[in-house]
Amino acid sequence: MTKPPLSILLCAPRGFCAGVDRAIQIVDLALERFGAPVYVRHEIVHNKYVVEELRRKGAVFVEELDEIPDTGQPVVFSAHGVAKAVPEAARLRGFFQLDATCPLVTKVHREAEIHHKRGRHVILIGHAGHPEVIGTMGQLPDGAVTLVETLDDVATLEAPDGAALAYTTQTTLSVDDTRAIVEALTERFPTITAPHKEDICYATTNRQASVKAVAPRVDALFVVGAPNSSNSQRLREVAAREGCTRAYLIQRAAEIDWEAVGEIRTVGITAGASAPEVLVEEVIDALAERYDVTVETVRTADETIAFNLPRELRAGAA
Ligand code: SF4
Repeated sequence: MTKPPLSILLCAPRGFCAGVDRAIQIVDLALERFGAPVYVRHEIVHNKYVVEELRRKGAVFVEELDEIPDTGQPVVFSAHGVAKAVPEAARLRGFFQLDATCPLVTKVHREAEIHHKRGRHVILIGHAGHPEVIGTMGQLPDGAVTLVETLDDVATLEAPDGAALAYTTQTTLSVDDTRAIVEALTERFPTITAPHKEDICYATTNRQASVKAVAPRVDALFVVGAPNSSNSQRLREVAAREGCTRAYLIQRAAEIDWEAVGEIRTVGITAGASAPEVLVEEVIDALAERYDVTVETVRTADETIAFNLPRELRAGAA
């Protein structure tokens, strides 16, 4: 039986960013150098496949440090960053710590600290409960940061009396939503201090721009990524806003609901910053089983960024 034709538009850049790549390398190298187990606080990056691969090699994932026995084995903090209290608690227990916090998240931590030192109250734009937000709020004493998630939050925001204000953002937000929130904040608090350079990271910005270019051209779009991955969720939303009514966030090809997808002639594929390319290939293979596919890459930016490894691991890196 002949298969119907299907044109696949592959968004580029997609998938792993420099921060995720570095975090995974840190666990891999720690395993190589120090042997198993290597303890990792929280999912190293938000992707089950990645976590399972590392678990298979000997990584042990925990949510809190008290789940870790007294040990000389490495303890790694995830790419999302941690509150200040976490490395301090690890130090008190004498753990060998390796920090896989993305340097672009660390930059936001340092900004928040500087604002605090200069007497500014910090407004953090982000999603409540996300590990990055918990980590950033945890850089400062309780009450020094106020989280805003929506325009309504800005409208009802009560800033501490007489305090100078500054804002900072989670790195993986929607570029468009954040712009609207920043505009509202600036309108309500005209003297608020802005970051020197946008806090939404290059990888989030580039992946959203690529989806914007592809979404209007396709009948459906698959975002390969995890439901708890902020940047993957944003990619699905961006596609929907650009008019792609069939935009799906899937972890694996097996999750494709072919009935819901319906008839398609052109499909877009992208992947969140924590989703490995092998899962994108799996989706292409699943499409190729049903359709006669042609693949075109739609590249909207080149990425050359790479981050240094922690000093303890540098000599072991390829
Ligand atoms: Fe770093 Fe951005 Fe990747 Fe998050 S998405 S790990 S901030 S580069």
